[in-house]
Amino acid sequence: MKELNKAIFFDRDGIVNYRIVGGYVETKQQFKFIPDFFDLFYLVKKIGYLAIIISNQQGVGKGILTLKDLEKIHSFMQKKLINMFGFGFDDIFYCTDLTGSGSFRRKPNPGMILEAIEKWKIDPKSSYMIGDSLSDVIAGKKAGTNTILINHYLNEKPDEADYLFKNLYQVADFFI
Ligand SMILES: [Mg+2]
Repeated sequence: MKELNKAIFFDRDGIVNYRIVGGYVETKQQFKFIPDFFDLFYLVKKIGYLAIIISNQQGVGKGILTLKDLEKIHSFMQKKLINMFGFGFDDIFYCTDLTGSGSFRRKPNPGMILEAIEKWKIDPKSSYMIGDSLSDVIAGKKAGTNTILINHYLNEKPDEADYLFKNLYQVADFFI
C-alpha cells in the first residue's frame, strides 16, 4: 500500500497574506503576501509536505466579491509563487458559506480539511493546520491534525493549539 501523504494546511488571510481588518481582500491589488510566509512555504515543500490552503471566504457569500474575483486572486497568488519558487500551493479549498449557515465546510468545522485529506490521501496525524484564529486550530483538531496558532500577543497557549508561535519564522525553525 502506498504511504499516505503529509500536508501543511494553511489558513489564508493573516498567514499567507495580510488580513484586511473589518473587510475582505476583493482584488489582487489588495492581496499582499506576508514576508514571513515565503521561507516557511519553500521549506515545507522541500521537506515533502503538500501545501494546501483552507480558507473561509464568506465575502463571496455576502456578495462583496464574486467567485470569479476570488479565483482571480488565487491565480494571481499561484502565479507569484510559481515565479518565485517553481511551484505554488498543491490545492486551495475555500468556503463561501456565511457564519450563521452552520456549514460543515466552514471553519471551525473540519469539512474542508476532511475533503483535502480524502482527495490527497493525507495522514492527518503527520499533518499540521496553521492559522491565526482559534477557529483554524479548532477545525484542525476536529480533523485530527496537529495545530499551530500564530499570534504575536498571546503568551498562553489555548488548549486547541498544540503549538503557539509569534510568527511564521518561528514555525520554519520548528520544521528545520
Ligand atoms: Mg486567518
